[in-house]
Amino acid sequence: MDSFNYRNGRLFAEGVDVEVIADEVGSPVYIYSKATFKDHLAKIQKAYSAIDTTVCYSVKACGNINILRFLAEAGSGFDVVSGGELYRVQQAGGDISKVVYAGVGKTDKEIVEALNAGIGYFNIESEAELENLIKLAKENNKSTKVALRINPDVDYKSHAYITTGKKENKFGVDIECALEVFDKYGNDKLVKLCAVHVHLGSGGKTIDPYVIAVEKILPVIDELRNRGHEIETLDLGGGYGADYESDSVPSAVDYAAGIVPLLKGKNLKLILEPGKSIAANAGMLLSRVLYIKQGGEKKFAIVDAGMNDLIRPALYGAFHFIWPTAVEMDMVPLRRVKDLDMPGCEVVDVVGPICESSDFFAKNRSLPVLKRGDLVAVFAAGAYGFTMSSNYNARARVAEVLVDGDKFTVIRKRESYEDQLALER
Ligand SMILES: *Cc1c(COP(=O)(O)O)cnc(C)c1O
Repeated sequence: MDSFNYRNGRLFAEGVDVEVIADEVGSPVYIYSKATFKDHLAKIQKAYSAIDTTVCYSVKACGNINILRFLAEAGSGFDVVSGGELYRVQQAGGDISKVVYAGVGKTDKEIVEALNAGIGYFNIESEAELENLIKLAKENNKSTKVALRINPDVDYKSHAYITTGKKENKFGVDIECALEVFDKYGNDKLVKLCAVHVHLGSGGKTIDPYVIAVEKILPVIDELRNRGHEIETLDLGGGYGADYESDSVPSAVDYAAGIVPLLKGKNLKLILEPGKSIAANAGMLLSRVLYIKQGGEKKFAIVDAGMNDLIRPALYGAFHFIWPTAVEMDMVPLRRVKDLDMPGCEVVDVVGPICESSDFFAKNRSLPVLKRGDLVAVFAAGAYGFTMSSNYNARARVAEVLVDGDKFTVIRKRESYEDQLALER
């Protein structure tokens, strides 16, 4: 589900008319629904309840401290990929024993911070990184648990930049190498190698890659146990589909139906690291039309948000459903899909104000006729939206607003020009 729906032709976030937010907070603005975040988390927790499962929300998808706080209260652990994200989780009051830390390039400083914090698992991506962790654990006399990231060589059939589970990319080690690493380092006193991590990537639309990955990894775990290694946990990573289009991906229940039966009775705890499947359609980017421009045959709607605010279309060619927030009743979109074409629509490019031709949100999109001043919603922008935003063109990063029922709160102020200069003075 999500909580962005039209009432009498006006877009509401839960119980709040989004235009009220734009009037008060300005545009562009990210608007999140607390209910949607919590609903997604709860559904995943419930779907896997037949086995001992910890859901570790992936902070990089959408890491506002106020969001981390209520997810922590709802029992979420956290998947972090930097010292900065770990700090956010600590400040949000998250349970540090339920933090897993992935990433191919952890610095010594970050590793020592995580050792001191007492995180649940380091997800280790290479032998060299493991050697360094063992050295730092010894120097600081800290113990920790490690999951070795194994690359199951499953093709995720998604964009080349967001596939990470194939052999020829920089993440994890292959199965052969994993056995050697366990044999070589499996007896360390402080650094306990006791889990396997797999993360396939992002963007898949079926459960098959997960089922195939588990089927490939379980024999590896058997082999490791045969060699005397205690394996307590399988971390299946993230990458579960998110509803960028209506009902286009499996639900948490669907994924669990494929995964849980394979793991039942295997004496393995399960960790999941969902990011976008929790955050994506829990957020939208609200933007205002500045100008309508006719360029030859093409019509452009130039909006006040740019690729610095939401880079996914420019970076991955990602699809975001876009629609005006106030429409006639017969123009309310019943489904948010790529090829939606309703009578009375016209074809436009929705573009930002930045001096790059990749600064677009939609090309050749059929939309209700837009005019200067209209507000448009860029749907399912909650994941990798604000967290990937920048100050390019010295544009202030936009405000973030959290809606809870019929109330809304600014959870990150819009930056000022001076905020941008503060660290340069
Ligand atoms: C990015 C990432 C995730 C989250 O991926 P989503 O596609 O947002 O679910 C989980 N685990 C790791 C290791 C990641 O790098």
